Amino acid sequence: MSCDFLSLANVGVQKLRPYQAGKPTDELERELGITHIVKLASNENPLGLASSVKDALQSELATLTRYPDANGYYLKKALADKYDVNVDQVTLGNGSNDLLELIARAFVCSEDEVMFAQHAFVVYPLVTQAIGATAVAVPAKDYGHDLDAMAAAITDKTKLIFIANPNNPTGTFLEQDAIKAFLTKVPSDVLVVLDEAYFEYAMPSRRGNAIAWISEFPNLIVSRTFSKAYGLAGLRVGYSISRPEIADILNRVRQPFNCNALALKAAETVLNDEDYLQKSVALNNQGMEDLSAFFTDNGLEYIASMGNFITVNVNPLGDKQSGDQVYQALLQEGVIVRPITGYGLPNHLRISIGTHSENQRFKEALCNVLNLES
Ligand SMILES: *Cc1c(COP(=O)(O)O)cnc(C)c1O
Repeated sequence: MSCDFLSLANVGVQKLRPYQAGKPTDELERELGITHIVKLASNENPLGLASSVKDALQSELATLTRYPDANGYYLKKALADKYDVNVDQVTLGNGSNDLLELIARAFVCSEDEVMFAQHAFVVYPLVTQAIGATAVAVPAKDYGHDLDAMAAAITDKTKLIFIANPNNPTGTFLEQDAIKAFLTKVPSDVLVVLDEAYFEYAMPSRRGNAIAWISEFPNLIVSRTFSKAYGLAGLRVGYSISRPEIADILNRVRQPFNCNALALKAAETVLNDEDYLQKSVALNNQGMEDLSAFFTDNGLEYIASMGNFITVNVNPLGDKQSGDQVYQALLQEGVIVRPITGYGLPNHLRISIGTHSENQRFKEALCNVLNLES
């Protein structure tokens, strides 16, 4: 008889559910017999790869027989220069998800508690469970973080707190004053990860500079990514900025080659491509305005978002199609969005902001599915 391998897995892992990945777009096209599917499901940059990156990748191909630079010297240096920190404060990850996991693995034991908000990023409970630690999900306020409730929920066992700002999947945003006030209430031996994956999209006058607070709050780790506004989701590169002592610990746990050569090169290149970043943000702002106005015109309640996506209630009275059902119907129309029942929002859908024509396709599809006047 074959062994029950699940019973061999560590207890935390036994309770994990695999990530529900969508089908590849071309597979769906074949299945549904349609072409030109629009994918607005993963908060990717709709602008396409920066042309500066294409050129840089081309010239990097010749080096691919070699291992990448395990220290990510040039990228770390570029980040340190840009954010006015020392190179030894930067840790690179295979996407910032890698860092979130590294931080949890390096610091959290099974006896510890890890805190995050209800409706927060799915990776937080995932990395917590994988370690077998206790996840503490604090109820949200207006779909966002309730920082007072989170401060009040800190116990002797709290080791790590994740805060996503802007939050995914709700797009809610915490003002700088509120985060700072929260940090003053967190004991110095509790780590706080401020996950700023959508930082570049947030309004410049309000997003501040949390990296500058690290000297005042040594337990603060700021993580960011090249997957969203910089358009490198497929290459997997993110980073954290922290005290050098924390970076040193993360570097002990990190796989030496967690960032591949193409990812390093692309990130270093796009970091200096101000033009691409500006275009990305401008396109996002336009699309955000467009979709917000569309929802308002059709009486659909949406959550104001500072990210590159918008979350809308498609079943306000709870008497019609649920989010999952509307998602399925949109799929038949060739538009992929993200149902977020798993985040505790069964009547909402998260829509990534696309290009003008992609947004148009989405609006038409939603009108068909919900019988709206366009
Ligand atoms: C997209 C996202 C990330 C980034 O993931 P990568 O691994 O860098 O691609 C991190 N945090 C949140 C909240 C996100 O939505």
